[in-house]
Amino acid sequence: MQLKAPIQYVKGVGPTRAKAFEKLSVTSVGALLRYYPRAYEDWSRIVPIREMPENETCCIRATVCHQPTKIRVPGGLLLYKTTVTDGEGLLNLTFFNNKYIGNQLHEGEEYLFFGKAARNKYGAREMASPLFQKPQSARRIRPIYPSSSALPSKTIERCVQNALDSLDAPIPDFLPEEVRVRNGLCTLDEAIHSIHFPKDNAALETARKRLIFDELFLLQLGLLQMKSRTQTLSTGCVVTHDETARFAAHLPFTMTNAQKRAVREAVADMRSGEPMNRLLQGDVGSGKTAVAAALVYTAAANGLQSAVMAPTEVLAEQHLRTFENFFAGTNVHTALLTGSMTAAEKRAVKAALADGSVQLAVGTHALIQQDVDFCRLGLVVTDEQHRFGVAQRASLAAKGDNPHILVMSATPIPRTLGLMLYGDLNVSVLDELPPGRQPVETYCVGTSYRPRIYNFLKKHIQRGLQCYIVCPLVEEGESNLVPAQEYYEKLQSGVFRGYRLGLLHGRMKPKEKDAVMRAFAAGEIDLLVSTVVIEVGVDVPNAVVMVIENAERFGLSQLHQLRGRVGRGSEKSTCILISDAQNEEAKARFNVLCETTDGFKIADADLKLRGPGDFFGKRQHGLPALHLADLLRDTKMLVTVRHAAEALLARDPTLSDPAHAALRKQTDKMFAAANIG
Ligand code: ADP
Ligand code: MG
Repeated sequence: MQLKAPIQYVKGVGPTRAKAFEKLSVTSVGALLRYYPRAYEDWSRIVPIREMPENETCCIRATVCHQPTKIRVPGGLLLYKTTVTDGEGLLNLTFFNNKYIGNQLHEGEEYLFFGKAARNKYGAREMASPLFQKPQSARRIRPIYPSSSALPSKTIERCVQNALDSLDAPIPDFLPEEVRVRNGLCTLDEAIHSIHFPKDNAALETARKRLIFDELFLLQLGLLQMKSRTQTLSTGCVVTHDETARFAAHLPFTMTNAQKRAVREAVADMRSGEPMNRLLQGDVGSGKTAVAAALVYTAAANGLQSAVMAPTEVLAEQHLRTFENFFAGTNVHTALLTGSMTAAEKRAVKAALADGSVQLAVGTHALIQQDVDFCRLGLVVTDEQHRFGVAQRASLAAKGDNPHILVMSATPIPRTLGLMLYGDLNVSVLDELPPGRQPVETYCVGTSYRPRIYNFLKKHIQRGLQCYIVCPLVEEGESNLVPAQEYYEKLQSGVFRGYRLGLLHGRMKPKEKDAVMRAFAAGEIDLLVSTVVIEVGVDVPNAVVMVIENAERFGLSQLHQLRGRVGRGSEKSTCILISDAQNEEAKARFNVLCETTDGFKIADADLKLRGPGDFFGKRQHGLPALHLADLLRDTKMLVTVRHAAEALLARDPTLSDPAHAALRKQTDKMFAAANIG
């Protein structure tokens, strides 16, 4: 059978299972082989019964001492009990509601048992409902697949086995032999076999290494090609005179060295004759907007218009005010363009953009939509959430003459990682905060402190200041958490009766969210109860206390982002993490947060602690999905891969050598699936 053969031709998959596989996006033999296990049962390390670790899964090899006995417990539960021995230790086994056990386990015969070991109150060792198989037929490391009720893991395992058995040729390798050998990788055929059915842990590691390399390699090849494509473009928006010094003199403050460096790097791009593609990365409050403003000013001085795009209308309005302040008394004229403006307002702004009387338009992504014509668009500033795919770049390029692009990001990531991840962008980093910032004081307390915290909040509110309480998103069936809505109602009708409370949560419509944020920014709300939607919130310098409920539910970097919502004004600000969590990992996170406010240190700590990729998922936004590779864990591999990709592209920049055809196809496929590239 061939890799592209439809899945229903695999032995064991009929039309019904084929439908179920289709739901998992598995439609061909090849796709089935790429449906990797999510974990493995390790039956290879057999421990003596006497040395069984407690409350850990392990595998033992033992003989059944007596035929399982059936016990009926009141309530209808059916139990089977037996005892097994490995010659030295004894182990009691219990099986629940499995009437076949009596026929499957035979006295005097030897089996492998796999399960979680425990001790009963008399100290006897026991295992509940272990898996078992005969030693001779045993697969030592068994795959566990992401399964569904229609497709249990065991079924998938069988189908994968059948698919592998039916292949009429080894799986062709798209990786050039030379790259494979130099990086000490096994063949794709071996990797695919071993990722499903490794003969031992070493084989599994070898397979993983190869497949992770593949993912990262294709990712880097794609990104590097994107980068060289944009770099070989020429732009009609070349800046000839650098006016940033004049702008700096106009600012009410002195730029930090980091800001100056970022401006210098960006201006060099804009003078180069090629369109700029630069990521400006800086912690909350590091002054990214001033950098952007310096570039907008320079563009304007060179006869070029700029567009600044924000993810929401409120943010757009806020950006506009900031830029208006920066440009007061200059020749840079600004305008807002958002969806909720009246038709007449929009018409007026569009006319001003078309005739060039406005140099800077601030708005939502409506700005780059078709019916907005710029007279001479030269610079587009956007944030991380709006990474452009090729289609959008093309539409942007059509509006201007390959305008420069500056992407701003507030999620600090270690520099090497950033370079890899944003392989298609050049990166500037603001690693310095403006002087005179008061660090936000951070505390971590248990839930018993709530009454005191409420008083603390009231004291601030009575002084005319504002506060946030953030609650985690509650999913169905999580009864130990209070949803934001209920929490808000409870506070409003109880402790905070008579105060002006606001509520913001993810299920509200964008318009409703905007209205609440606007009221909060205008000081019409004292205390905002919210789910994490305020992460990309507006700048409210009057908000000085951030309380985070169930803080253990948030990743380190996410907590840091939330904390960045306060500490933006001259008042001292406080962040309070509420949590009763006892686990070490959560405590370690809180400690880091209480000790430092440096986003890069926090990112590094995050890298080490590595909670689930809660905010990493977001950063991956706009990049192809990775199945085995983990950009945080596999940084070392990333560096190797990057070099390998660069070396290959140096020889064959467009992968047009016929020897690289298969590689090129894989890269295209990966990026096409992500709808970018
Ligand atoms: P970011 O967007 O990076 O979070 P902002 O650009 O909003 O940060 O800047 C935060 C605040 O710091 C703004 O009020 C801004 O005017 C101010 N600011 C920026 N750069 C400086 C500087 N070099 N010195 C003093 N204040 C600055
Ligand atoms: Mg900002």
